[in-house]
Amino acid sequence: MKGKARKALVVGGGMAGLEAALKIGQAGHEVILVEKEANLGGTALLLSSTFPKWQDPLEKLNLKLEQLKKLPAVEVYTNTEISSCTPNGSGYSLTLRNNLTGEETGVEAQAAVLATGFDYFDARKYGEYGYGTYPGVMISIEFEEMLREWKKGLKREKAPGAVAFIKCVGSRDRIKGYPYCSKICCMYTARQAGMFKELFPQASCYVFYMDYRAAGKDYEEFVRSVMEEKEVRYVRGRPAKVLPYGGKLMVRSEDTLMGVPIEVEVDLVVLAAAAVPKKETLELAKSFAAATNQHGFLEPVDGFTAKAGTRVFFAGGCGFPTDSAGAQQQGAAAAAEVIALFNQD
Ligand SMILES: Cc1cc2nc3c(=O)[nH]c(=O)nc-3n(C[C@H](O)[C@H](O)[C@H](O)COP(=O)(O)OP(=O)(O)OC[C@H]3O[C@@H](n4cnc5c(N)ncnc54)[C@H](O)[C@@H]3O)c2cc1C
Ligand code: SF4
Repeated sequence: MKGKARKALVVGGGMAGLEAALKIGQAGHEVILVEKEANLGGTALLLSSTFPKWQDPLEKLNLKLEQLKKLPAVEVYTNTEISSCTPNGSGYSLTLRNNLTGEETGVEAQAAVLATGFDYFDARKYGEYGYGTYPGVMISIEFEEMLREWKKGLKREKAPGAVAFIKCVGSRDRIKGYPYCSKICCMYTARQAGMFKELFPQASCYVFYMDYRAAGKDYEEFVRSVMEEKEVRYVRGRPAKVLPYGGKLMVRSEDTLMGVPIEVEVDLVVLAAAAVPKKETLELAKSFAAATNQHGFLEPVDGFTAKAGTRVFFAGGCGFPTDSAGAQQQGAAAAAEVIALFNQD
């Protein structure tokens, strides 16, 4: 078998899956890239900008898509999911189903990379914040759409005069949410708040936080610049309640640094909902006999590499919340594992 071109399946066409597909394809192997949505790109398609350098997420994405087009051995199936997967000793026999046409295609792959991303915590579980009840309360990924439109110069007349961000909604909460820290929401909250102030310097902007975690290259400097240059007001405290207030919203909290209660009147409240495992990733994990942890994130079998089972690897947000750079690095690491496996076959 040595030296023979082999075929890998990559499930999910976000930054992690794209990187894995590119690297495996560039090593001379065939790749089947399966994406359930109409377009490749995943969450990057929804973002207005990226930390830590205020970059346009589409720049990097388009570069990857261009590189992918140059690799004829990478076959892309969009609007497609895996409808069956049977291990066959040397890999997997799979059926791919097109979600629009119902058409089914049988394929074989000798290894798989799962790169299906993460989901969002159901913020309705925090009834006190009014998500799903007050139209002015949303989660961060929904706020990205507003930022994208304002950035393009659209709907600016409807822009809010004041926004409050509430962090750690569903994270670090053993009772109503998940015990872990979602790792990226301190950073994207800072970016969203900073970008909002950049677009609307006269507006008020508050970030309610328990801690802020900015461990990464240039991350601390990024958050500091949002606080100091963009004049976003960080208030240490976990809000007790969001209340309707004469057509607006009132955020009631305590400023634990000052030791005083605080109430702010805003038009919008943005909740940094925890990143949680996707149910469909759990289903895929069962089909591919891939290991998961107690929450449902994919888990390395040897505690270090991207390997989740004999011939199955993973990358990006389906393993744990990560930033875009981390997702790409993990995509490359999973590809390296697949290439090493193919070299041994
Ligand atoms: C609000 C918000 C703001 C962010 N801002 C930043 C930022 O400024 N900078 C930064 O570095 N990071 C940021 N991130 C994080 C960044 O979005 C992630 O790191 C990145 O998207 C992870 O890439 P991924 O490929 O793992 O997942 P995704 O981008 O989610 O891609 C997963 C892909 O898999 C597909 N898929 C899922 N299930 C299936 C299935 N069963 N079959 C086929 N396809 C499937 C999905 O449709 C999707 O295309 C932000 C995240 C959020 C939520
Ligand atoms: S990254 Fe920040 S906002 Fe997100 S859970 Fe951790 S401490 Fe909370």
